[in-house]
Amino acid sequence: MRKKSNQIIFEKKFAFDIWDKKTISQAFRFAEEYKKFLTQNKTERKVVEWVEKEALKRNYKKIDTFKKSNFKIGGNRKFYSINRNKSIILGNLGKKDILNGLKLILAHIDSPRLDLKLQPLYEKEHLAFLKTHYYGGIKKYHWPAIPLAIYGVIVRQNGKIINIEIGDKENEPVLMITDLLPHLSGKQLEKALYNAIEAEELNLLIGSIGVRKGKEKIKNNILQILNRKYKITEEDLISADLEVVPAGPCRDLGIDSSFIAGYGQDDRICAFCAINALFEATGSDQTRVVALVDREETGSEGATGATSNFIIDFIGELLYFQRRKYNENYLRDALSLSKAISGDVTCGFDPDYQSVFDPENTARLGAGVVIEKYTGRGGKFYTSEATAEYVSYIRNIFNKAKVNWQTGGLGKVDIGGGGTIAMFLARHNMDIIDCGPALLSMHAPFEISHKADLYSTFKAYLAFFNY
Ligand code: MN
Ligand code: MN
Repeated sequence: MRKKSNQIIFEKKFAFDIWDKKTISQAFRFAEEYKKFLTQNKTERKVVEWVEKEALKRNYKKIDTFKKSNFKIGGNRKFYSINRNKSIILGNLGKKDILNGLKLILAHIDSPRLDLKLQPLYEKEHLAFLKTHYYGGIKKYHWPAIPLAIYGVIVRQNGKIINIEIGDKENEPVLMITDLLPHLSGKQLEKALYNAIEAEELNLLIGSIGVRKGKEKIKNNILQILNRKYKITEEDLISADLEVVPAGPCRDLGIDSSFIAGYGQDDRICAFCAINALFEATGSDQTRVVALVDREETGSEGATGATSNFIIDFIGELLYFQRRKYNENYLRDALSLSKAISGDVTCGFDPDYQSVFDPENTARLGAGVVIEKYTGRGGKFYTSEATAEYVSYIRNIFNKAKVNWQTGGLGKVDIGGGGTIAMFLARHNMDIIDCGPALLSMHAPFEISHKADLYSTFKAYLAFFNY
């Protein structure tokens, strides 16, 4: 992308201004696949299912069903492991000794949303509702008056898992949270945006037809419908992961269709690019791993989040497969020599809200994948930071592979901030840097990405794996 010249100014290059026609059409084709993926996979469980299906097509073997004693050393082999149906990790075992370190790309597959409470169902004034508890950093006022869908599982006492998907197929009803009519909103409109809509007002309207006799007629009727359809009782709703997400497909955005609007792009855009990069990476020497984790939006705690040992344990398995023996010292050596990308989105410069951005240090949509040396807030709190040496290593790879890249950050210092999972892997003493596309309207029900940035992110991850 950058000319061999004596130019000493570093400036953003807008991909569609400089790419040839062929590359641009490749980027648009890649976006079509991504849009399908995003439309079909609105929860971490759905992403895990999708990735497993794609992995099996490519002969990946599930580690927990693998007989270690039959394992033969030599050659390039592919493995994956699933953690509680909510996170998945894949590895291509290379010929080179893992003790020299691996290449890892991590991304998260959970997104801000509304979860159902444990006892969600109630009726009031001849209407039935489901109570929700928001997950992650949402702006609560975004969620009323838009069509919503429910995805997830209800697990019966006997362990049987019932899959629930309501609201995205054309013949299915959608669900909705009500909002007040403007005519009576005088008081509401004077409130701060933060509490204009209260968390306890985020209730889904789900019914109004009652059974003929007894108490709580509407609630009872809803339970009977659920019982007929799924053979579940009200108590079964207690053992459930049910997530409320925007209904409807991911779409092109803009008269020139240069953008993508869709739910959950933070951070499934990086998950999609990382998986595709792993599948397309060439050469069998180095060991490559992609980990797609849950719970990032609430701080990464939990068995399926980035602070859990499952990522490191998986690397331990690969080490065992390659060397036929395992010891902690080998594992620690391998981790300390590993190189990682924390694939996550960052904010794009929005001309309507200029005051919060440092213009020189904010990414622009369309100018390629973003390298972030650190994230966090205030005086670099709550973040790791890539060393100068590692940033040099990364930009060298991207420049050699002609990847369109830029730098970015999360707004002006002291305005706000946010973290990623980079610091949780940095704890294992590896080099790691944040790298992913910029979004507009991040964490909104529909987030906006740019097709050139999507493709640049894929190319960047591919270069990282191939180099
Ligand atoms: Mn994210
Ligand atoms: Mn996020």
